[in-house]
Amino acid sequence: MTEIIDGKALAQKIQTNLADKVKQMKERYGIVPGLVVILVGDNPASQVYVRNKERSASKAGFKSETVRLSDATSEEELIAIIEKYNQDSSIHGILVQLPLPSHINDKRILLAIDPKKDVDGFHPVNTGHLWNGRPQMVPCTPAGIMEILRAYQVDLEGKHAVIIGRSNIVGKPMAQLLLDKNATVTLTHSRTKNLSEITKSADVLIVAIGQGNFVTKELVKDGAVVIDVGMNRDKNGKLIGDVKFDEVAEAASLITPVPGGVGPMTITMLLEQTYQAALRSVTK
Ligand code: NDP
Repeated sequence: MTEIIDGKALAQKIQTNLADKVKQMKERYGIVPGLVVILVGDNPASQVYVRNKERSASKAGFKSETVRLSDATSEEELIAIIEKYNQDSSIHGILVQLPLPSHINDKRILLAIDPKKDVDGFHPVNTGHLWNGRPQMVPCTPAGIMEILRAYQVDLEGKHAVIIGRSNIVGKPMAQLLLDKNATVTLTHSRTKNLSEITKSADVLIVAIGQGNFVTKELVKDGAVVIDVGMNRDKNGKLIGDVKFDEVAEAASLITPVPGGVGPMTITMLLEQTYQAALRSVTK
């Protein structure tokens, strides 16, 4: 019997719990978590993400700020704004929405964020903590997937976890988080040979490549747990994942839908990490 993961319900539950924790933080320490999202340019998808982040942060009782900058903003101007928020003690999380316009070097921008406020977990200091097995700020999508696996009581110990896609945002941090839970991890990518042989042996298969319906049932072992990170539009503009859901669901024991699987957990982890950063600011 296949179970379909309800990422929306799980995200809602965690966010409701978070709103309670925020109230307690306010009573106990006199602060609320502060999150600033910086958006440069008018990429329509980014505008939607930023609005969703804003709405969820306010609903959970956070101080939420959004800085909207024009496409013409220079790298120096953006760094000066980040620096201002690095110094602002009411802000605990700084997120610069990617992608940035091509004249801005995103590596330089990510380096400008104080690692303690780097709620996206992309700063090399946080990457280092993660790979040393002492994660602090973790990229939100893999962190959300770990929450899903925990909530659905997926036992990872000694299991073969296969990830398709090796991006810094999803695949690589995912590998380390699964290793931390004693899974045996295989990280695959576009140059991997005999991909289907590898994926066929996966107890847990995580797919993050950005190609609609790429994973068919021929690639999946019976009873596998399948997590689909992909967000793609089909020819009718409908949102679809990297996994061909209907046929893979027949083989999987547990599977995420798109939408309503991994997506809602990403924002939730952004809020959770901002809350944790605020807590560290008063308890350390
Ligand atoms: P990237 O484009 O940065 O990385 C894609 C990865 O997939 C690369 O490592 C690439 O390999 C690999 N790949 C591409 N084609 C194949 C193939 N045919 N076989 C095996 N591997 C392949 O993507 P992201 O990690 O940023 O995003 C992946 C997907 O997840 C996208 O659809 C994105 O929209 C979605 N996403 C969803 C989020 C959510 O909150 N739900 C958050 C983040 C991303 P190589 O390195 O060799 O090029």
